[in-house]
Amino acid sequence: MKTESPTVYDVLGIGFGPSNLALAIAIEEQSQASVCVPLHALFFEKQERFGWHRGMLIEGTTMQVCFLKDLAMLRNPTSPFTFLSYLHDKNRLVDFVNHKILFSSRVEFHDYLEWAAAKLKRLVQYDAEVVEVSPVICDGVVKWLDVVVQRDGNPSHHEIYRTHNLVIAPGLEPTMPPGISRSERVWHSSEVLDRIAHLTEEPQQFTVVGAGQSAAEITAYLHDHFKYAKVRSIFSRYGYSAADDSPFTNRIFDPLAVDEYYQARDDVKKMLLNFHRNTNYSVVDADLLEDLYRRHYQEMVRGESRLEFMNVSKVFGAVADRDSVDLSVEFLPTGDMRKLRSDIVVFGSGYKIADPIRYFSDFAGKCIRDSFGQLRVARNYRICTSEDVECGIYLQGTTEHTHGLSSTLLSNTAVRAGEILEAMTWERDNKKISSHA
Ligand SMILES: Cc1cc2nc3c(=O)[nH]c(=O)nc-3n(C[C@H](O)[C@H](O)[C@H](O)COP(=O)(O)OP(=O)(O)OC[C@H]3O[C@@H](n4cnc5c(N)ncnc54)[C@H](O)[C@@H]3O)c2cc1C
Repeated sequence: MKTESPTVYDVLGIGFGPSNLALAIAIEEQSQASVCVPLHALFFEKQERFGWHRGMLIEGTTMQVCFLKDLAMLRNPTSPFTFLSYLHDKNRLVDFVNHKILFSSRVEFHDYLEWAAAKLKRLVQYDAEVVEVSPVICDGVVKWLDVVVQRDGNPSHHEIYRTHNLVIAPGLEPTMPPGISRSERVWHSSEVLDRIAHLTEEPQQFTVVGAGQSAAEITAYLHDHFKYAKVRSIFSRYGYSAADDSPFTNRIFDPLAVDEYYQARDDVKKMLLNFHRNTNYSVVDADLLEDLYRRHYQEMVRGESRLEFMNVSKVFGAVADRDSVDLSVEFLPTGDMRKLRSDIVVFGSGYKIADPIRYFSDFAGKCIRDSFGQLRVARNYRICTSEDVECGIYLQGTTEHTHGLSSTLLSNTAVRAGEILEAMTWERDNKKISSHA
C-alpha cells in the first residue's frame, strides 16, 4: 500500500452515477469558461464502466422525469451536455421533436448519460471502489481527507488519494424483506435483466412481489418476454396506485421547493413527505397500470390466466431449493396462510439510503447528527462537522431528510451540482465557509 499522495485534489467524488456526473459536467464547464482557476477533480466508480441501473434497463420503459431535467439544462441551458445537445450530436433532434414526448425511453436516457460520461472520462476512474476515508490532521485540524481506493475488486490492490473536498454520491442500496435473502432463484428487481441473461432453462412460473414501479415493469416484461410462463404478482395493497405527476404536485421537485423544505420545521418536513410520497414511492405510472389491467382483462375474455394478481397478500418466507422456491403467503383480510411454488421470485422491495459516511471509521464522530441520528447537512449539501474539520464533505442523493423528495431523484441534479461547485469554489477562493455546528 502506498503511504503518501503526491497530489492534493480540490475534489474527489465517490460514485459516478448521474449525481457526480452532473458535478463533473459543472466542473468541466467552469474550466472551459475560465472565470476562475478550475477545480482539480477526480471521481471513483466501482462499476467497470458507466452504468445507470443496468439491471432494470427494460426495453420500452420510459423515464419518470422530463428530458429537460437532464444533467445540465436547469443550471445552464446553453451547456453542451444537455439532452438536446446529445440528440443533436446523434443526429436525432428533429426525429425526437416529431415524437412529441416529454419522457424519453430509459434506454435512450442511459445512452445520453453514457455519452456525457464518455466525454469526461479523464475525470473518472472505473473499477475503483472507495473503501475507506481517513482524516489528515495538521496542527490539530483535519486539513485533508485520504481516500482509499480498491482496484478491480482486489482487496490487496489499494491506492490513496488526498483531497480538500469529498463529494459522496453512492446511490441507494437494494433491500430485501426481513428474513429473505437473494439466491439463484430469489432476485431483487435491480438485478433482473442480468439474472435473466444467465438463465439456463426457461422458467414456467414467475412471482413478482411488490406494487411499485419496478415490480409493475417487471411483471409486464416477464409476461411479454416469456410467452409460455405464468406470471403471478403479489402485493399487500388492494391494487396498484397511480403515481401523481400532475403539474401542481410536480412543483415539489422544483429548486425553490428545496429551499422551502430545507428551512421548514421537522413536523412540516414530515407532513410534506407524507403528502407527496405518492409521487415516487410504491406507485406506478398510470399508463403501465392501465396496460397491466388491459392484459389481465383480455386474458379473462379468452379464458386464460397466465397473468395473476394476488392483492392484499403478504409474502412471509421464500425458501429456495435447486428446482424451485416455496413461498409462504398470507391473505391479509382473513389471515389465511398459503404455500405457493414458483421457479423464480423477484422482489420489488425497493432501496434504502445507506449511511453515506460508512467508510469513515473513527472520523465519522466529527460529523454532526441530529436528535434522530441523521446527519446534519447545510443548505449547500455540506455535512456539518466539528470546528476542527477544515475540509468539506458534501452529500448527493442521501439528503431526503434535509432537502426533500427530489434528493434521491434526477429532477434537481443539475442545479444541485451547481450549488455544490459554487460552495467548493467559494471556499477555495475565500477560505472556508461555515458548516460547523
Ligand atoms: C430502475 C430505476 C429507475 C429510475 N428512474 C428514475 C427516473 O426516471 N427519474 C428519476 O428522477 N429518478 C429515477 N430513479 C432514481 C435514481 O436514484 C436516480 O435516477 C439516480 O440513479 C440517482 O443518481 P446517483 O448518482 O445519486 O445514484 P446512482 O445512480 O445509484 O449512482 C451511484 C454510483 O455510485 C457507485 N458507488 C457506490 N458506492 C461506491 C464506492 N464506495 N466507490 C465507488 N463507487 C461507488 C455506484 O456503483 C453507482 O454507479 C430510478 C431508480 C431506479 C432504480
